[in-house]
Amino acid sequence: MQGQTSTRLCDSMFEPAVAVPDHLEGRPGRWLLFDRRQQLLLVDGELPVAAAPMGGVTDVHVLGHDRDGPVWAARIGSDFDFPERGEFTDLRRAYAALAEHDWVLAGRAAQVLTWHDDHQYCSRCGNETEHHDGERARTCPACRLMAFPRLTPAVIMLVERDDGQALLAWGRQFPGRFFSALAGFVEPGESLEQCVAREVREEAGVEVANVRYFGSQPWPFPHSLMVGFNADYAGGDLRIQESEIVEADWFPHDRLPPVPKGRMSIAGWLIEDWVNRMTNR
Ligand SMILES: [Zn+2]
Repeated sequence: MQGQTSTRLCDSMFEPAVAVPDHLEGRPGRWLLFDRRQQLLLVDGELPVAAAPMGGVTDVHVLGHDRDGPVWAARIGSDFDFPERGEFTDLRRAYAALAEHDWVLAGRAAQVLTWHDDHQYCSRCGNETEHHDGERARTCPACRLMAFPRLTPAVIMLVERDDGQALLAWGRQFPGRFFSALAGFVEPGESLEQCVAREVREEAGVEVANVRYFGSQPWPFPHSLMVGFNADYAGGDLRIQESEIVEADWFPHDRLPPVPKGRMSIAGWLIEDWVNRMTNR
């Protein structure tokens, strides 16, 4: 399963680029078109295909290319000529509609467009920034500060006890009552392994050992990179951080509470991998 997890994000054949290479010039490609509320345009349930920017789009970015041709991202403007059979979808809901490869591209596009919107002005001196021709960056003409797309690393970890039970928690920000692996954002100056240990200590009051890399996933809500780990319980009693966690407990794999469903998130991959290992041991 760990192998499958890494394969799913390694085999896309997508090459990021900021310009269309000569041999693909003029070829039709897929367009990731978002409106200002970050809703994605699908036409007949698919990403629209075109060889050139459609009328009424702004902030056009070449994302790169894959075996199907160039891939672009752009923002839909107010005078966009809305296509017949077009519909907007939320990026999370788009997972059900799109092939996984296209959904990952949509997340990439959403992050680039968010970065573009958020870096129109220099954060150091306040001047308007300019597009950089050679790389994915915006430059300040006054003070030369460069702004690259922002990525916020976060760790997500499944803590297991040697009796086969795993620690799952109902996070306060979850949309309903379900339980998942603990997670948290990486602090400046901290290694990923230190972050795993700190977050588990803060949110659940327990210590971990033997922190092992599991896999990673871009998470475009709005610009996280989720880095998944397995870890072993090493001591302490559960004591939840009430500002973050509603409820947490140790669960055996055959008596699970409601957990993330489906294959969309690394939380689901971690739990599925653990259930498979416990089922087969
Ligand atoms: Zn500046």
